[in-house]
Order: sequence, then C-alpha cells, then structure tokens
Amino acid sequence: MLLPRALFTSLFSLGLAVALPTAIPDHPTTLFTRQDVQSAINASLPNVTIFATGGTIASQGTSNTQTVGYSVGLGVQQLIDAVPEILNISNIAGYQVSNVGSGSINETILLRLNELINIELAKEDVAGVVVTHGTDTLEETAFFLQLVVNSTKPVVCVGAMRPATALSADGPLNLLQAVTLASAPNAVGRGTMITLNDRIGSAWYTTKNNANSLDTFYSTEAGQLGFFINQVPYFYFDPALPVGLTQFDLTGVTDLPMIDILYAHQDMDPGLFNSSVVNGAEGIVLAGVGAGGISARASIAAEAVYNATGVAMVASHRSSDGFVPSSEGGFAIASGFLNPQKSRILLQLSLALGYSNEEVADVFAATYPAPVAAAMRKRR
Ligand code: ASP
Repeated sequence: MLLPRALFTSLFSLGLAVALPTAIPDHPTTLFTRQDVQSAINASLPNVTIFATGGTIASQGTSNTQTVGYSVGLGVQQLIDAVPEILNISNIAGYQVSNVGSGSINETILLRLNELINIELAKEDVAGVVVTHGTDTLEETAFFLQLVVNSTKPVVCVGAMRPATALSADGPLNLLQAVTLASAPNAVGRGTMITLNDRIGSAWYTTKNNANSLDTFYSTEAGQLGFFINQVPYFYFDPALPVGLTQFDLTGVTDLPMIDILYAHQDMDPGLFNSSVVNGAEGIVLAGVGAGGISARASIAAEAVYNATGVAMVASHRSSDGFVPSSEGGFAIASGFLNPQKSRILLQLSLALGYSNEEVADVFAATYPAPVAAAMRKRR
C-alpha cells in the first residue's frame, strides 16, 4: 500500500516510515591456495592471486540467451575452472572476498581488499593480482585500489558484461587477459588497471560508459593505456602514474566516512544538502551541471550548510567527462578531472585519515594541471 505523501513525511520524521537495514551481512573470506587450485605448481611460471568479489563475471542465467536478470553465484574456483588456460601461464591462488553485485560492494569489502592485496603484493614470489568484480562500480574499487595499494606490481580489475551462461560470454577471455596482464613485466609501474574487451585502461580515468554493451569501459580524454592482440598486452606509452596521485596508508583504519553524491538538475531540492548532513554524511560530492554548477538557490543552501557544519563539499560534473575548475565562491573544492564517483573515493580516503578541509583541497589540487593549482594556491 502506498502512503499519502504527507503521512509518509510525518512518519519518516518520527523514524517510523521505513526500516533501513543496519548492516549488510558479512561474507567470510575464503582462500584457495595454489596447491588447492592446480594439481602441480610450475616453478617457472609467475604466481598470480585472484580476488573474487562477484558481478556478472560470476553470474549465471537460466538460458544461454539471458543477458539481464541473472544471478551472482559462481565461486572463484569455478571462474578458474572455466579458463584452464590461465594455469598454462601462471600458478593461481584465489580469495573469495565476497560474491555480490557490485552495487553492494561496501567499505568492509574495500578495506579487506586493501589489506589482503597489500599483503599479497609484498610477497616476493607474487607477480601481480587480479580482482574480479561487477562492472557497475568496478571503476570505484579500481580507483580505491589505485590510491591505497603500495606496490609497483600490476593490480588488474576485470569483469564481464555477459553472464557465464550466455552465448559469447566475455568473462573467460577477459579473465585470461587479466591474469596475463597481472604477470606481464611491461605492466609493472602502471598502477591499477581495468581490462575488458581487449582494452587496458588506467583506474584513474577509466569509466563505464554504457549500461549494456560489451565495449563499455573507456577513458575518453586520457585514452587507453594499451590493447591485447592475440592475448598479448601492448602498451601505447612507457609506464607512468597519473598526475597528482596521493597514496593513502589505511593501516589501522576500520571504517570509512559516509560521503553522499548529490545529482544536480533543474529545480534541484536545496534541502538535500541539509538532509545529507542530518543523515550522517561527513562529506558531499555534487554531480554538478556543466563544470560543477548548481542553481542559485541550491548553492545558497549548500554554502549555508557548509558554514554551519564545515562538512567538506566537492563540486564535480554530471557530464561524462570534463574538468571542474576551482570555484570562486570557495566553499566547495573543485574535483578537477575526477568524476563524482571517483571524487567521492578521494574525499572519503582523505577524511578517513583525518585531513582538514584545507588538506583535502590540497589533495584535489594536486590532480589539477599545474597552472590551475598554482593560481588556486595564490588565491588562498
Ligand atoms: N550487475 C553487475 C554488477 O555487479 C553488472 C556487471 O557486472 O556487469 O555490477
């Protein structure tokens, strides 16, 4: 039964209208050792570890033509079993970290990936790691790992757009390419990468562009890092890291602050900024119109909330690409080239480490082109 809006509003203000889940059930992390995964370890091959989290790559439909509405459920061992070729190029160990659609990836899973991947890459005999993940939020986990993994070894995030049961499922070849990349000497020193559909992109810039089609991951302005030809990775450039990369050490961090993203549009509700803070947001990212804009009314409301609470605000863009320059008004930090979902992660990690708003502004400014960052410093 639908409640009349006025009744719902008053029930909600009393905390009676909806019961929100308090916590998503935790998934125990399971390890499949190299001895579990392959009958014989080949000492001449590199060691790669797969961290499986779920997504379409681990999903099955009820028929081979079903490409929406399937369900997640395949474990890491089944992913490996579907591509026995990966055991010809590497010795594989696997962690089942979660098995969820990527919309449900949360701070618990991210912090576990941070801890396990840093431990794994510190082992001398591990060449690189692969994270299997749903494509919907893959760019967020990849960007998070870019910021927190302290290693020059390859971290490769991979998914699939078609479930394992579909005609022309893309998961198996994507996984083979990801494992190849994780153990490729020419992939070292390039940070976290995203690979699907033969393309290799930087986690810093790559984003999902199409909700359905196979060829969905692109970084429009920055371009791709490389490409697979006959399962061999080729790179267009020598290894380089993104401009302005800040590395975060999350040792001792047990939770991440709540950061909301508010989507700007005509007639945006100015009360959303206050609602976010009342609901516990410690930072707000605006997916602004154009280069980070909002209506005059919403801007006044946002500034009032900022002045009253000091909650950090970052202005990004709802357009799929572009640059948000630093704002004259001064209360919102400009996201530069980062889209809202990546801005959210950078803000979240900065606040998790207790940075002041000035320090957060510096973290973002480091990602701007040098003259913009210098001009901004002068204004402060
Ligand atoms: N629903 C899926 C996810 O977990 C979509 C995908 O993996 O392509 O993101």
